[in-house]
Amino acid sequence: MAGILFIISAPSGSGKSTLVSQLRTLVEGLDFSISYTTRAPRGSETDGREYHFTTREEFERMITAGDFLEWAEVFGNYYGTAVSALAHAKDAGKDLLLDIDVQGAMQVMKKMPDAVSIFVLPPSPVVLEMRLRNRSEAEHVTSEKVIQSRLAEARTELKRMWDYKYALVNDVLDQAVAEMRAIVLSERGERDGVQTLASSCRTDAASPRLKAALSTFHE
Ligand code: ADP
Ligand code: 5GP
Repeated sequence: MAGILFIISAPSGSGKSTLVSQLRTLVEGLDFSISYTTRAPRGSETDGREYHFTTREEFERMITAGDFLEWAEVFGNYYGTAVSALAHAKDAGKDLLLDIDVQGAMQVMKKMPDAVSIFVLPPSPVVLEMRLRNRSEAEHVTSEKVIQSRLAEARTELKRMWDYKYALVNDVLDQAVAEMRAIVLSERGERDGVQTLASSCRTDAASPRLKAALSTFHE
């Protein structure tokens, strides 16, 4: 059975990483692609866990070698998804989740039109700013320039929301997680023909198997 490729994008600070990590504890069979990046690790981030941290030289070598399914420059750093992530998920029989920015998402949507895209919005610019400030304070790296550039970028990214199949607002975390889980389960149901199977069991559809079984009681 073919795995589903889920693409999740959101303005930085919307809470996408928080959502995705909760989703992964609730939904089985979901592989997460660990991106390559040239940015420095933040807080407790560990090489090979949140990202593969690499140099610009190495990243550019990988671009030339065709190692990336997609890549983009975001806030002055390179980020990219390795082509090999697709094969890993397929071999493991899992669906794959990509947490990538809108530029990368557009590239993947073009290459893989069956990918299921989800855009996560913050409830408002005020809340987004608050989350960006809280996070940077927690990580002891409050930079006004970084916060302002992320807020400005959020407005640009929002314009691409309509290119995504789904969009959800990360206001109350539990509700956003439930919505994301519902999207994953619904897409799996569609792939597996769950609705078709269920409708064939409806009494008003009276499937041939149902009729055959019933008829044996009238013999
Ligand atoms: P992103 O991955 O989108 O950049 P993060 O997951 O790092 O964002 O979240 C940014 C900040 O917002 C973090 O401090 C996180 O704890 C907080 N946060 C995430 N989701 C919510 C939510 N629904 N309500 C309140 N705070 C949230
Ligand atoms: P952060 O530095 O906050 O972890 O991520 C910044 C932005 O880069 C986020 O929008 C995130 O989704 C995006 N990003 C992370 N990995 C990739 C990737 O592999 N490709 C692309 N195009 N964007 C990525």
